[in-house]
Amino acid sequence: MQITNVKCPTSKYSIKCPYTMKPQGIAVHNTANNASAMSEISYMIGNSNKVSFHAAADDYRIVTGIPFDRNTWHCGDGTNGKGNRNYIAIEICYSKSGGEKFTKAEKLAAKYIAYLLKQYGWGIDKVKKHQDFNGKYCPHRTLDLGWQRFLNMIKAELGETTKPNTEKPTLEWQKTMNKVYNCGLEEDNSFGPDSEAKADKYYLYYEKGKKVIVNDHVKFIQNRLITKGYSCGSKGADRSYGPDTRDATKAFQKANGLKVDGWVGAKTTKLLLK
Ligand SMILES: [Zn+2]
Repeated sequence: MQITNVKCPTSKYSIKCPYTMKPQGIAVHNTANNASAMSEISYMIGNSNKVSFHAAADDYRIVTGIPFDRNTWHCGDGTNGKGNRNYIAIEICYSKSGGEKFTKAEKLAAKYIAYLLKQYGWGIDKVKKHQDFNGKYCPHRTLDLGWQRFLNMIKAELGETTKPNTEKPTLEWQKTMNKVYNCGLEEDNSFGPDSEAKADKYYLYYEKGKKVIVNDHVKFIQNRLITKGYSCGSKGADRSYGPDTRDATKAFQKANGLKVDGWVGAKTTKLLLK
């Protein structure tokens, strides 16, 4: 793990980090931007806004800018706020675009947070989201994809075991299709010609002005997209194949060399079940 330390000039302390601090935990943020960790830290130190954070993670390194024994202005909870005065603020980069760069940045952030937890002798309960302090929907993309999922990533880095992954997505998909459409698919956990035909017959799509598809098949597909790192919007897996879910499908299709039409038919389903 590459950690680059950038020093905030002490002349800037009165704006960026005026108080000494004994850290009590870690607050996680998303930048809502598409800049690298170095750009985020340089910009933060360079300007004169009362906005600051301790470190940023991007797709290949961690950059720190403020010493951890000083407070930063990151939580919007005021001069004496719990977050602003006691928590180490970590920004995860590329949350605006999402995609592979964000996936890597989140993974590196999880690794770095696990490293800090060990250093301070803390447990996973010391990891908070910005939202916990003032209600702001931040870290937005990390929340879209699932907060517990992110905590599990940190736990995995700590060497703590989470539930073993014994799920059988194809079998679960077949069961879901039978439940929703009563289509008589053999529940054999194999995506064969019959599965392909049913996936094409009951394909999911969104078209403006047409009735939105709402059922458990949609929910299943949304959960697969989310598992693979494609946000289906702030409501998560809400059973409704709306524009956010269509866009998630398109992003998945683009990344996997499929035709980018936002339709979930056999080819897209097959790859989503992998
Ligand atoms: Zn935030």
